[in-house]
Amino acid sequence: MTDRARLDELAGSLDAVQRRIALACRDVGRDPGEVTLIAVSKTWPASDVLLMSSLGVTDFGESYDQEAAAKAGALRAAGVDVRWHFVGRLQRNKCRSVARYADVVQSVDRVEIADALAAGARDGGRRPEVLVQISLDGAEGRGGVAVDRVGELTAHIASLDRLVLRGVMAVAPLGAAPRPVFAVLAQVAAELRASYPHATVVSAGMTGDLEDAVAEGATHVRVGTALFGQRPRHG
Ligand SMILES: *Cc1c(COP(=O)(O)O)cnc(C)c1O
Repeated sequence: MTDRARLDELAGSLDAVQRRIALACRDVGRDPGEVTLIAVSKTWPASDVLLMSSLGVTDFGESYDQEAAAKAGALRAAGVDVRWHFVGRLQRNKCRSVARYADVVQSVDRVEIADALAAGARDGGRRPEVLVQISLDGAEGRGGVAVDRVGELTAHIASLDRLVLRGVMAVAPLGAAPRPVFAVLAQVAAELRASYPHATVVSAGMTGDLEDAVAEGATHVRVGTALFGQRPRHG
């Protein structure tokens, strides 16, 4: 596909997603300006990020460190400034690398990960924002800290001067109705804000459930498939 054809395709899908966000906001009396779209570009090439950026998208989400580091390097080399959100599962040994390019790390779910990110940020002279990933299915197996352990983790993060605690992130559990679980997330977010007034971010909602997330107060939606197309299976 030519760049021109891909640009037209991305412009069309971006327009459709922005309409979905605007409609979802209208339904609950929110201002669409309160909702930031994060284009989840994992598995898609840097050229797609450049095209999406030329359409006005400023925030991009990535899940795999090596791929993300390369893409961040490519955008930097092209002189294009975007905000990178790391949204994937974090392993301790990837944190140093992630801390070098991520502006926001959304998937912090344990103390060791926070410590490793803080160490990487110090070495890199950076101060990334972080979100605490909340597990909404009562288990911690698929990533995220259980609701009853959020306080411990956020207190630890707040004590690290290299990380800026900005809020919460969650993925709706498979098979659960998304709206009630996003309502639980909103409650967790409100409690966090009571202790940390700058922790205002609620990152929730993807291609399949962004309307439910917006209805429950999401400030950031993370959309991949509806913008870029069906992802090839990641190897
Ligand atoms: C891949 C991914 C997304 C985007 O999902 P789509 O269904 O393609 O919109 C959002 N959040 C996280 C954490 C992801 O891993």
